[in-house]
Amino acid sequence: NAKGMGRNNFQTYVAVPEESHQQRLALESKLRLAERNGELRAYYQPQVSSQTEDIIGMEALIRWEHPELGMISPGFFIPLAEDTGLIVSIGEWMLRTALADTKRWHDRFNLPLRISVNLSALQLKQPNLKDVVERAVRDTGLDAKHVELEVTESINVKGIPNLIETLQSLRDMGCSIAIDDFGTGQSSLDYIRRFPADRIKIDQVFVRNIGVDPDDEAIVRATINMSQQLNRGVIAEGVEYEEHLRFLRDHGCEELQGYLFCRPLPAASFENLLAEREKLVGPPRMPQVLGDD
Ligand code: C2E
Ligand code: MG
Ligand code: MG
Ligand code: MG
Repeated sequence: NAKGMGRNNFQTYVAVPEESHQQRLALESKLRLAERNGELRAYYQPQVSSQTEDIIGMEALIRWEHPELGMISPGFFIPLAEDTGLIVSIGEWMLRTALADTKRWHDRFNLPLRISVNLSALQLKQPNLKDVVERAVRDTGLDAKHVELEVTESINVKGIPNLIETLQSLRDMGCSIAIDDFGTGQSSLDYIRRFPADRIKIDQVFVRNIGVDPDDEAIVRATINMSQQLNRGVIAEGVEYEEHLRFLRDHGCEELQGYLFCRPLPAASFENLLAEREKLVGPPRMPQVLGDD
């Protein structure tokens, strides 16, 4: 049970000043150097089974640690990276880093953890995305079946040519696809039916209001039911309170992610968490083989 782990890992971001054109340009040129200067970090947040509360996988979440400015939130610099096109190389760096860390943890802990990596719209427009993912899989030695790619529902799907084909080709490779921030975009039900997704990720705006707003609770229940009826997996993000956990578990949401269990952690802390978990529950048991030894 990972609950409470990483509670002391509070993160404070620098307050980014009111945006002027000049400040934006200055930040843009700093971001251009961030990858090369080793200022980007991959953080990891556990995703747990609602039944056992044991870890199933983790979402990779990027951080930018600028030597003078401090820690800059992705909510701030990812949009900048998207506008400037920098997200393509930053996204590839993130993918390769996340897969390499995951492979190391597979080898050390013998645990089939799934790694979820966020993709932005611009990455999905790159004709070579499949090659980029294939290369990351090959170079790190991680089996593609452990790789999940998150696509936010709020992307403008019409602006991405061949989106469905691209996602299908990633699935053919063995990766799974999750629809992130579900319920906050403009998708029609028909589109969702045709969208090649393995999992639906309920947005935190709904999860947050469990126990507060019956309408949001109804949306959460309906999303869980719809996921089940469409044979998709379902995960809730932003799980912060025991009440959220109980509601989601009792209504059949299989997987959970949120501060209740753990905050996003730097790779080294995440590895410590896995080591602590192993001390508590031991390594996963091999299937029983009935032999005559
Ligand atoms: P997201 O993909 O929806 O990620 C979930 C966000 O919710 C993360 O914010 C996470 O730290 C936060 N979160 C997790 N549990 C809780 C909780 O219990 N309560 C609350 N209030 N928040 C929680 P973060 O790390 O600041 O990332 C924000 C967004 O930035 C992400 O939203 C994603 O859209 C984007 N992002 C982060 N990393 C990457 C990346 O590598 N590539 C791309 N393209 N986008 C990224
Ligand atoms: Mg995400
Ligand atoms: Mg999300
Ligand atoms: Mg979100």
